[in-house]
Amino acid sequence: MEERGSPDGDPARNLEQGPEGPETPIQVVLRVRPMSAAELRRGEQSVLHCSGTRTLQVSPPGGAPDVAFRFGAVLDGASTQDDVFRACGVRRLGELALRGFSCTVLTFGQTGSGKTYTLTGPPPQGEGLPVPPGLAGIVQRTFTWLLDRVQHLDVPVTLQASYLEIYNEQVRDLLSLGAPRPLPVRWNKTRGFYVEQLRVVEFGSLGALMELLQMGLSRRRSSAHTLNQASSRSHALLTLYISHQTQMPPVDPGEPPAGGKLCFVDLAGSEKVAATGSRGELMLEANSINRSLLALGHCLSLLLDPQRKQSHIPFRDSKLTKLLADSLGGHGVTLMVACVSPSAQCLPETLSTLRYASRAQRVTTRPQAPRSPKAKPPQHLETELLQLQEENHHLRSQLGQMDPKASGLSGARVAWAQRNLYGMLQEFMLENERLRKEKRQLQSSRDLAHGEQRILAQQVRELERRLLSACYLQQPGPGPAPPCPCVMVPPLLCHMFSSKAPADGPPSARPPPWAPPCCPSSAKCSRERSHSEWAQTQVLAEMLTEEKVIPSAPPLPVGPLNTSPVLRGGAAVPNLARRLEALRDQIGTSLRRGRSQPPPP
Ligand code: ADP
Ligand code: MG
Repeated sequence: MEERGSPDGDPARNLEQGPEGPETPIQVVLRVRPMSAAELRRGEQSVLHCSGTRTLQVSPPGGAPDVAFRFGAVLDGASTQDDVFRACGVRRLGELALRGFSCTVLTFGQTGSGKTYTLTGPPPQGEGLPVPPGLAGIVQRTFTWLLDRVQHLDVPVTLQASYLEIYNEQVRDLLSLGAPRPLPVRWNKTRGFYVEQLRVVEFGSLGALMELLQMGLSRRRSSAHTLNQASSRSHALLTLYISHQTQMPPVDPGEPPAGGKLCFVDLAGSEKVAATGSRGELMLEANSINRSLLALGHCLSLLLDPQRKQSHIPFRDSKLTKLLADSLGGHGVTLMVACVSPSAQCLPETLSTLRYASRAQRVTTRPQAPRSPKAKPPQHLETELLQLQEENHHLRSQLGQMDPKASGLSGARVAWAQRNLYGMLQEFMLENERLRKEKRQLQSSRDLAHGEQRILAQQVRELERRLLSACYLQQPGPGPAPPCPCVMVPPLLCHMFSSKAPADGPPSARPPPWAPPCCPSSAKCSRERSHSEWAQTQVLAEMLTEEKVIPSAPPLPVGPLNTSPVLRGGAAVPNLARRLEALRDQIGTSLRRGRSQPPPP
């Protein structure tokens, strides 16, 4: 015989006295549903027997040994709804929620094992018909107790509720004004995991709360199933928020108030698709239910690990584990009601539920009240707070008047952003204009440089032409000698436009810039010039300069070898060289200027 026990010896004491130590185990209560009419018709015998108030004996058919499980409380099929409510110690959980703790009651078990029945009673017998009081579940009984309790408190309390379901891994608001639409689950440091844009409704009476419950129940997904005629196909989370009016209001208007919480979780049942024969949508739903229950089981196993502080708990694996993260491994106080069927046909599932529940009751949380409701702020702080709230209200209304679209805090933010964006836009426009002007100026100076460059190039070509013809004039013999083979541009210009001066030989040995081309074919290159040659040189000088050249001295008939005749008589050719030098500089400058300009678009 196997016996699994509660870790602290007396779970009932724990439930009744509330969290005392830093670590509080999850409390588990087991409920065995009675035999259904169909099961009785088949003549089935129950395989589950209660032994005392806390032990369950499982007697498998076929002579296999009995197995025993121990829980905080065990309730057999004869137990009433009121017995369950009392045994679960939900009132104590309510007290803790009033003190600011976050408390959770969750039902767990196979499809058709009585989870929904335990929480909210039998399925509605007709549209809008409430559950008879005797069959009301833990939820309705807690509502009645809480509203009665609140009336007897010294401090006024605000009560709010939200109701959601997780269907096929989508969170849907069961209290939404329109049709339920998927809502995102977010996380932040202060709130942990929470559902964004979830509708939280304030209620003041039991009647109003019951209406909210009916509304959610009627909108929740359920289907006819082989194991249950009204099988819930989603996990449902109904949360009551209890806040004292002395507590700080939430910063964000969409945020629920700071204070205690009481959450009822009706899990969809696990099922073996092969055994139940679910097809189509039913199978899709069953798979998504099983996946999230598997994620829940995985988190529970890891939470049991003594090294869990170091290990990562994969709460993010499903929406369900995200929303239960605080109840399972955080600062909440949690009660699990495990529901099982007495039928032998369901035994494998029952054993699995019992093992799961045994494991869960070894998981501990560290309950923590976020803020003591009795910790009233000092009088002067309260006055200051009121003044600030008034000022805030006044500023908001002023903002609302300035811009009808912008109201409230988000309106102010929008206005601020618009002002800043507008300012930035203006700055960009001004800078753009300035850059456009600069670009126009640069383009016009580049065009000027191009024009200048063209004129200079023309002048150079003209000078080259004249130099060439002057060279031919200097050739001896009847016909013109073939042009200098070095280039069509005479060597004079080669020297002028080359970036480097010829490096061979001393400068005196190099030909002077005005020297006629030294063609290898020309034997006259360095020979002595005659008087007629001098005349030719004069013509050349005149052609190049387009001026009348006046010789500085009468032509010398004979001179020493290698003495240039022009050196002796032509003053205009060095002039020409200077002009060419100047032209070269000008061309270089304008070329450089032209290169530094960006190309026209
Ligand atoms: P689950 O939510 O686990 O799928 P339900 O709560 O819908 O199962 O119960 C399945 C069926 O069994 C329902 O018809 C319900 O009325 C009935 N039932 C469950 N528990 C009890 C109980 N303790 N007493 C009487 N009927 C029950
Ligand atoms: Mg159900």
